[in-house]
Amino acid sequence: MIPQLLQDQKKFFKTRAPYDISFRKKLLNALLVELTKREQDITNALYKDFKKPEFESVLTETAVVIQDLKLTIKKLDKWAKPKRVTPALLNFPSSDYLYAEPYGSVLIIAPWNYPYQLAIAPLVGAIAAGNTVILKPSELTPNTSALINDIIKTVFNPEHVTVVEGGVDTSTKLLQQQWDYIFFTGSVNVGKIVAKAAAQYLTPTTLELGGKNPCIIDQTANIKLTAKRIVWGKFVNAGQTCIAPDYILIHQSKKEAFYQAMKTEVEQAYSSTPKQSKDFARIINTKNFERLSKMLVDQNCIIGGQTDADNLYIAPTLIDEPELDSEVMKDEIFGPILPVISYQNDADLDAIIWSYNKPLSLYVFGTNSAKAKQLIKRYSFGGGCINDTIIHFVNHRLPFGGVGNSGIGAYHGQYTFDTFSHKKGLVKKANWLDLPVRYAPYTGKLNFVKKVLKWL
Ligand code: NAD
Repeated sequence: MIPQLLQDQKKFFKTRAPYDISFRKKLLNALLVELTKREQDITNALYKDFKKPEFESVLTETAVVIQDLKLTIKKLDKWAKPKRVTPALLNFPSSDYLYAEPYGSVLIIAPWNYPYQLAIAPLVGAIAAGNTVILKPSELTPNTSALINDIIKTVFNPEHVTVVEGGVDTSTKLLQQQWDYIFFTGSVNVGKIVAKAAAQYLTPTTLELGGKNPCIIDQTANIKLTAKRIVWGKFVNAGQTCIAPDYILIHQSKKEAFYQAMKTEVEQAYSSTPKQSKDFARIINTKNFERLSKMLVDQNCIIGGQTDADNLYIAPTLIDEPELDSEVMKDEIFGPILPVISYQNDADLDAIIWSYNKPLSLYVFGTNSAKAKQLIKRYSFGGGCINDTIIHFVNHRLPFGGVGNSGIGAYHGQYTFDTFSHKKGLVKKANWLDLPVRYAPYTGKLNFVKKVLKWL
């Protein structure tokens, strides 16, 4: 079934129908109409999958996609138009261009944590750039995935865009095919599987992965506001956000004040019984619940620490000074657990941050702007914020992606269009002049060429 679907798409791509910008725009507009109409269905599906609060679904899933889709439709002519670039003097006389061409058959594999947005946002860019797409949403959010399938069927012909639902087996079969581009969002381990499969055909890939995101709070930070912004960025989606702060590094002089402020802010956001709060999501499944619960064993939970396996609930939790070799400090946490480690000087920061691979995000809180900028420059990470968490995500002018182990490539706004377009460079040489110097025989020309090259 999968090979046939892909063959049908390859055949359709050869008709060059998706090269037509008006064809792309017509379908993107149809998608916009359908997604707008189905917004309530989407938020309902997300709630069914992991009790994601409707407010969070609108803010972090549906609204983001609609904004992106509208921007893409508005800017598509401009993005897709061949761009004139300054020619090289050595080629005089010529005019030079960049053509954005679609790769062809694109595979998109999406994760469960923002199961709608992380499937549809790359899809929009892939269609806008003129590709055909097979999209595999996550098997862990069956309601959202089935709905995405339904929406795509309503808008697209399967030889252009189609959804293939399924788990690891399906994903493996998809990865055995020859694609022109693979866009994967998910864990580092599976990212490596994708990269291996892509290497077989030298298929270009974007890998949107994860990592352990440090959040530094220095001695100049406004602690009340810092706590408020960390509570939101960490506990939205119950901490199951790739760019959520993974651990706190706080100047030791501020730790006690920070704990007090965090207690107040957690209570303010989710009440004194967060389990009853409608605004706090659940852990996606038992496997992840158990993985997270293990991180709490033998730890000093300053806030939270309560769990309920039947309801896949883990309270918003702060752990005081975990050992660096403890479970919670080994890998990306990806849940509502926040370890706090105090530091005294920059060397302490280096020792911890550089003991991990390059993270997807890094955050610095402090009112000493020069110091904050120094830290931002010192560490390598995908993207981040000074004095806030996760909000860099909403600016479509900023590329969103990792570096090193946290990912390869980036998207959002025009970057998404560019990701799914091969940039074909082209020189259009004029015929009215043909300087003879480059042609053989070369005798007697070298000194002249050396002089010209120096002058250039
Ligand atoms: P995952 O890697 O387990 O799964 C992602 C996708 O890969 C799913 O569609 C799944 O079916 C498929 N898959 C799983 N195992 C596979 C295998 N062995 N072979 C082929 N395909 C396989 O990730 P997840 O649990 O869905 O998502 C959580 C991870 O994703 C976290 O590490 C998080 O940091 C990362 N993430 C990154 C971003 C980003 O934008 N960089 C966004 C969201 C999540």
